[in-house]
Amino acid sequence: MIVESSLTETRSIVRAARQHGRSVGCIPTMGALHQGHVSLIEIARQQCDFVVVTIFVNPTQFGPNEDFTQYPRTLAADLEMCHAAGADLIFTPPVTTMYAGSAQTIVRVTKLAQVLEGAHRPGHFDGVSTVVAKLLNVTEPGRAYFGQKDFQQQLIVRQMCVDLDLPVEIITCPIIREADGLAMSSRNRYLSVVERKQASQLFQTLKLAENLAENSALPPPEIARQMLDYLKSVDGIDVQYAVIADALTLELLTDRSNSAVALLAVKVGSTRLIDNQILRFR
Ligand code: AMP
Repeated sequence: MIVESSLTETRSIVRAARQHGRSVGCIPTMGALHQGHVSLIEIARQQCDFVVVTIFVNPTQFGPNEDFTQYPRTLAADLEMCHAAGADLIFTPPVTTMYAGSAQTIVRVTKLAQVLEGAHRPGHFDGVSTVVAKLLNVTEPGRAYFGQKDFQQQLIVRQMCVDLDLPVEIITCPIIREADGLAMSSRNRYLSVVERKQASQLFQTLKLAENLAENSALPPPEIARQMLDYLKSVDGIDVQYAVIADALTLELLTDRSNSAVALLAVKVGSTRLIDNQILRFR
């Protein structure tokens, strides 16, 4: 496994692999890796000949009052996990490599990025789409792997690749969860023991929505109201949104459509958590 912080070296290593006929898969991450990230690497390992993991805590996707400086940085452990999962190349650029002081370009997806996370985290998705475009430009993969955990993000990245004619297939991988259902996240390590227990109610809320979708005739706004009521009944949880949206457009659903996703965002103490669940109406 090669570990590389130079952009030009990374580009030439991946190009050499491609010239030898090897298919390339890329997994963009911010490090602090857990089994969720590992599952992406493992799926890429099965589908591609050459697997590149990028580890970059991207400053432009954090708001001024968010956790950029505190975000966990665990490079040594990350490299061990990448190696064990079979990655070939790790690209870990410094901030100055990714963002020259003179940079003037932002990649902005419009409609999809304005709602939900975009509404609560102004500028977040500009940072995400810009850095993902740059990372895909450097690594030129045939496939790039994203988690369903960040549901809106994978939709935005797909839209960006279509709009910018980037020749990359976006693969969305299932959410990996802890035993009690909490979606794995680098931010879970911020939670106290009490908060960790409260956080497990996010999964229960999504199970409630899934159950109502499958076993009742309730319309989506009523199911969303019950999700909200359930979350509000949990001590220590501050709800930012709990909605049922079209799984392609993210427009809020009024009817029991075939393409639906329950999405929620909460704060548990000072830690912000998101989760989601695809719904199938009976
Ligand atoms: P991050 O390091 O948080 O930017 O995440 C890097 C990638 O890993 C993103 O595509 C995430 O959606 C994905 N990811 C994060 N958590 C999980 C999880 N619990 N299960 C599956 N994928 C995940």
